[in-house]
Amino acid sequence: MTVKKAGCQKAPSGGNAGNTYFKLARTFKQKIKACSRGSENGNADHVVFLWICVSSAGLQPGIHEEAGAEAPLTPRQWLNVVDEAASLGANWLVLSLTDPLAKCNHIWEIAVWAQQVHNMMVGLHLKDARLKRDDLKSLRKIDPDKTRLLVRVDDLDRVKWIEREGITIWTANPQADGERPHCQGPKRMIFVNANGVLYTCGLVKGNNAYRMGHVFDGALKRVVNDPKLPHHVHEDLHIVTPECDGCPSLIANFFCDNT
Ligand code: SF4
Repeated sequence: MTVKKAGCQKAPSGGNAGNTYFKLARTFKQKIKACSRGSENGNADHVVFLWICVSSAGLQPGIHEEAGAEAPLTPRQWLNVVDEAASLGANWLVLSLTDPLAKCNHIWEIAVWAQQVHNMMVGLHLKDARLKRDDLKSLRKIDPDKTRLLVRVDDLDRVKWIEREGITIWTANPQADGERPHCQGPKRMIFVNANGVLYTCGLVKGNNAYRMGHVFDGALKRVVNDPKLPHHVHEDLHIVTPECDGCPSLIANFFCDNT
């Protein structure tokens, strides 16, 4: 697909290394289906992005599903979420890791599942960007062509070495904090925190006014289509903060045209 969208033409503005980002973006050779799909069918309500936060607590042996509805989700539960989101059209999965990569061993089965079963692109958003050599061995488990490593702009130099290993890095915060986000909005995105709670998007996670339910409450389809739920963030709050880091709805706008 080579369809371009007006909304996909912005150069990253975060921090002082804008040129670096732009260069990184230019190395990206694969079109993001998110933009092309939206252009093709003109269906703004189509779910494209699944953004989930994963904590190591849900990925450790001994943490069981019976732990409670608000406990960190296990890998198996995440697979169900991925399946359901894919059935709604999601073709981009971003996993935001609240713990270092080395502590999140079970994310690999989630990422492999998303790539192999649903042909999804996978963004691994590292909140802690201290990558170790051993992490590279783990990264080899997933398809590099369908993988993007997302780190904050200040951490790009720290992880640069991994690009030589064939892993593409994108900035997790392509826009400076305090700006009005050039995001595609939460409308085509499902956001789930580490405990399985659905919020409008990452910016408002933890804010009860934007809580949309829990993945165990019922079908995601119902949440996505329920007009009574908050599908938009109020203008007054709609400002880039670190909570927007890794947001696929934002990142897609900065990278999909820079091919
Ligand atoms: S997290 Fe930020 S960038 Fe993403 S949809 Fe919400 S407001 Fe937009």
